Amino acid sequence: DLTLTPKALADAERWTAHNYHPLPVVIAEAEGAWVTDVDGRRYLDCLAGYSALNFGHRHPALIAAAHAQLDRLTLTSRAFVHDRFAAFCRGLAELCGQDLVLPMNTGAEAVETAIKVSRAWGYRVKGVGTGRANIIVADGNFHGRTTTIVSFSTDADARNDFGPYTPGFTVVPYGDLAAMASAITEDTVAVLIEPIQGEAGVLVPPPGYLTGVRALCTERNVLFVADEIQSGLGRTGTTFACDHEGVRPDLVLLGKALGGGIVPVSAVAGRRDVLGVLRPGEHGSTFGGNPLACAVAAEVVNLLATGEFQRRSAALGTRLHAGLTDLIGKGVIAVRGRGLWAGVDIDPALMTGRRACELLLERGVLVKDTHGSTIRLAPPLTVTEDDIDVALGRLAAVLSSP
Ligand code: PLP
Repeated sequence: DLTLTPKALADAERWTAHNYHPLPVVIAEAEGAWVTDVDGRRYLDCLAGYSALNFGHRHPALIAAAHAQLDRLTLTSRAFVHDRFAAFCRGLAELCGQDLVLPMNTGAEAVETAIKVSRAWGYRVKGVGTGRANIIVADGNFHGRTTTIVSFSTDADARNDFGPYTPGFTVVPYGDLAAMASAITEDTVAVLIEPIQGEAGVLVPPPGYLTGVRALCTERNVLFVADEIQSGLGRTGTTFACDHEGVRPDLVLLGKALGGGIVPVSAVAGRRDVLGVLRPGEHGSTFGGNPLACAVAAEVVNLLATGEFQRRSAALGTRLHAGLTDLIGKGVIAVRGRGLWAGVDIDPALMTGRRACELLLERGVLVKDTHGSTIRLAPPLTVTEDDIDVALGRLAAVLSSP
C-alpha cells in the first residue's frame, strides 16, 4: 500500500543537506490535529511543528485571516508603515502585559534581538563598560541555531565545529538560583532562560525558581529575558509559562505559534525603558512585521485572548499527564511537563527514543525524540479527549510489544 512514500523519501534525501534526520513519513495534507501522508495514511500529530501548530493545522480563523490579507497587501518593508502593523503590536503587547513589541521572523532572530537590546541597555542605561556586557544562560538551553546562540549552547552537536564563538555569556546550572546569584557581576546585563526547557526534554524548574530569578534580577539591576518561544502561547495551560508563578519578565520572546503555523513570525515584547533603547538603523528585518505576518499573528492574539486554548491545554493536559503517569513502570521511567506538553523518558533497556518514535509512526502517531531515550509530546491545543486517548493507547501498545 506504500506506493509514493519510498520515492518521495529518497528524493528528499538526495536533494537536501542532511541537517535533519526526519522520521520516514511524507505528509501531504492536514487538518486540525491530523495529517495525511502521500499514500493516504492518517496520523495524529503529537509534535505540532515543535509547538508552532498550537491551534492545529489550518485553523479556519487563521486561514481566513491569511487569505483576506493575501488579497490586499503582503509586504511593504518597515521603510513604510502598513495598516496591519499597529493593531498586531498593540494586541501582542497587551497580551504580554508589556509596553512595546518588536516583530521579527524566526525564534533565533527574536533571541538575537533580545541579546542586542540587553547589551545596548547595559551600556546606555545600566552603565556597563564598553564591550564588557555579560549575559547569564542555563546549561541544557536551546535558543536557536545562529553562531552567537550556539556559542552558549552546552550541546556538542549544536556547537562543535561552528566556532569561533561569540564571547559574553556565562552558563549556570538550570534551576539553581544560588548558582545564578553568584554568577551575577557588575557587567551582567541579562539572564536569558526558558521558563520550561523544551529541547532539553521538557524540564520544569523547581517551584519558586522563576519567582526567584525575577527577584534576583530586580535586586541586582539585571534584565530577566524569558524565552517563551516554545513554552508560550497556551502550550502549558496558561498564556505564558511564567504565568504559573505570576512572574513578568523584562523581555519576553515569542515565535513558533505566533505565526499560526502559516508564516514565520517572532517578536520581542518588553518594557518601554528596555526595548525603547533601540534607535533607528540599529536593528531590523526585511520581512519582520510584514502585513501577512501581522494579519495572521493578530488573529493568533485574538484566539488567545478568549482563554479557550489555555483552558483546553490545562484540562486535556491533566488527562495526558495522568495517562502518561500510568505508564511509569510499564516502559516509561519518568514524565515531566505542564499542560499539553510532556517529556517522557522511555526505559533505555527497552528502546531508544528514536525507536519509540518509529514504532509510534507505524501506529499512526507523530512524535519526536529529544536526547537519548526521551520523547516529547506536544499535540495541537485543539485535540480532543479521544485524540489524547488514542495517543496514550498507541504509546502503551508500542511499549508493551517492542
Ligand atoms: N527558543 C526556543 C525555546 C526554541 O524551542 C526554539 C526552537 O525550537 C528557538 C528558540 C528557535 O526558534 P527558530 O527555530 O524559529 O529559530
